[in-house]
Amino acid sequence: MKTEAPPGPRGADGKSAEARDGKSSESRDGKSAKAEGRGKGARRGRELSIKGIPISPGVAIGTVYDTAEAPAAAPRRNITAGQVEAERARLNAAIAASRKQVSKLKARLAILPEEAQEELEPLLDAYSMMLGESRLIRGARKRIEAELLSAETAVDDEAEAIANAILQARDDDKAGLRRRAGEVHEIARRLTRNLTESGFRSFKDVPEGSILIAEELTPADAALLDPSRIAGVAAAEGGADGHTAIMLRALGIPSVLGLPGLTNALSRGDQAVLDGGAGTIVLRPGAEALAAGREASVAYAKERTRLGKLRRLPAVTTDGEEMELQANLEIPAELPLIAQAGAQGVGLVRTEFLFMNRQGLPDEEAHYEAYRQIVEGTDGAGVTIRVLDWGGEKDMEALAEGIEPFHAGPNPALGLRGIRMLLRRPELLEVQFAAILRVASLGKVRILLPMVTIPEEVSKAREIYDRVVKRVRRRGVTLPEKLPPLGVMIETPGAALAADAIALEADFFAIGTNDLAMYTLAVDRAEVEVSHLYDPLHPAVLRLIQFATEAALRLRMPVSVCGEMAGNPRLVPLLMGLGLRSLSMNASAIPRVKQMVRALNVDDCARFARRVMEQSDPLRIQELVMSFVPGEGKG
Ligand code: PEP
Ligand code: MG
Repeated sequence: MKTEAPPGPRGADGKSAEARDGKSSESRDGKSAKAEGRGKGARRGRELSIKGIPISPGVAIGTVYDTAEAPAAAPRRNITAGQVEAERARLNAAIAASRKQVSKLKARLAILPEEAQEELEPLLDAYSMMLGESRLIRGARKRIEAELLSAETAVDDEAEAIANAILQARDDDKAGLRRRAGEVHEIARRLTRNLTESGFRSFKDVPEGSILIAEELTPADAALLDPSRIAGVAAAEGGADGHTAIMLRALGIPSVLGLPGLTNALSRGDQAVLDGGAGTIVLRPGAEALAAGREASVAYAKERTRLGKLRRLPAVTTDGEEMELQANLEIPAELPLIAQAGAQGVGLVRTEFLFMNRQGLPDEEAHYEAYRQIVEGTDGAGVTIRVLDWGGEKDMEALAEGIEPFHAGPNPALGLRGIRMLLRRPELLEVQFAAILRVASLGKVRILLPMVTIPEEVSKAREIYDRVVKRVRRRGVTLPEKLPPLGVMIETPGAALAADAIALEADFFAIGTNDLAMYTLAVDRAEVEVSHLYDPLHPAVLRLIQFATEAALRLRMPVSVCGEMAGNPRLVPLLMGLGLRSLSMNASAIPRVKQMVRALNVDDCARFARRVMEQSDPLRIQELVMSFVPGEGKG
């Protein structure tokens, strides 16, 4: 559990002084106290309010569901005698998959500090042994046949029997016995996960209307959440612009991350009020907090209805300048939301979803089906498909499985991420290019390359693209006369500063401000401890955006912003003033951004941007941005 002061949650501008103080308070009769450091069970029954990072707006009132309590085992299942062979084969496949995973973990040991290696090595050796001809494996195989049990049930029963025997052994080292029993259960869980081919967590059993609580949620976990069942999400870890946050916003689930001490502060069955816009959670709310939660919920619903009326109105400034407002898409389930929001197409399809929570790699058909659904679901308004951006926090077990030898490197965010990995494994790029080309006749499609830092990466990708075009044509696929353009994400300082050279190789730019801010400021976008330093309004980031935008505009090349900045209405005057006319954001942000665009005038924006760009103090820039009033032309 983290007991440090909470990190600085952000307001509309990306940060707020009040939030930086951290508000964790326990209250009864108006008294309050810091919540940090309280262990589980502390002052049960009292109302406790914790402040974190606002991630996705909306208010949830419900019972908490702690993911740590989620059952790891699959339901018990019997089989018939005729199914024994198939069940044993399933078990063998799961053993092979588990062995591979453990050897991969071992391969990564070398990059850990020596003490960690010393601790982990014997553990992984024990796992490897258990996955050999161990008592666990022999016993599970026997149970499948003798007791007609499914592989999952057989593994579970055998692990339970072995663990019990270990715990009952005559040995004074009780902690050692517990540790060994725990190892048996851990291997059984890994086998079960591989047997069920589910992700490493399942949220299917979460009772409807619950507020999901986790210490940490990965982007792949978030992809498994069903927004119609889960009322809200709260986690102790996570930053505002990490992929988990982006996924939660995409799903429209009210969410707060970076809540210090959260998991230790709650008990099973607690009620909670979560306000995703304010970035707060109140555990065990009293009558007053409940009433305030209900009021906030009604206000949020009214605001949504009001903004919904903007859907059919154009995004045009008061002096007639048109803005293109597109949506980012994380998973195809967002398509109805995107349509509702009145997006002019999709400016960024993050294709990582195709690789999440699965064992094998998706084939061309799987890509094609997903892209077809997206292109058809947006009425041909234009879809920009970004090829796989694997790496950094987007660590997908599935992809790691499909790519051997896998090596994340000492710093995955600076390693084989995005285009670097795709050029190392061109077969992955070829599959995506082919599938994208096949949907090009269904609507306007563009292709986007992630994590480019040098022009050569673009020219190499283009060579592969040309090859795939020929191959697809040979297969008899009809391609449109104008092939999908090949664009580049500008999301590293290197790419931004070399934008003029990269622009010569690219057909368009999409500025990824999330990574651009992360790499410029050396602040991990998903790391709660440094989230107060993550600031897309830092002058260094703004200057890079300006440099890249101007490089594109000089060549009359399309340029857009598709990082989270684009969805913040307060930043629209500045981005427009820098010359940007195309923004892509999470769908739910479109109405508010459109409202802002419709109140602006281009000259005011240009003047405002000049004023901002003269500043070198991030705090002064925050002030200017927060005090800009549309129509008054001043900040
Ligand atoms: C970005 O980095 O701003 C971006 C849009 O890409 P992603 O968030 O998927 O890394
Ligand atoms: Mg990025």
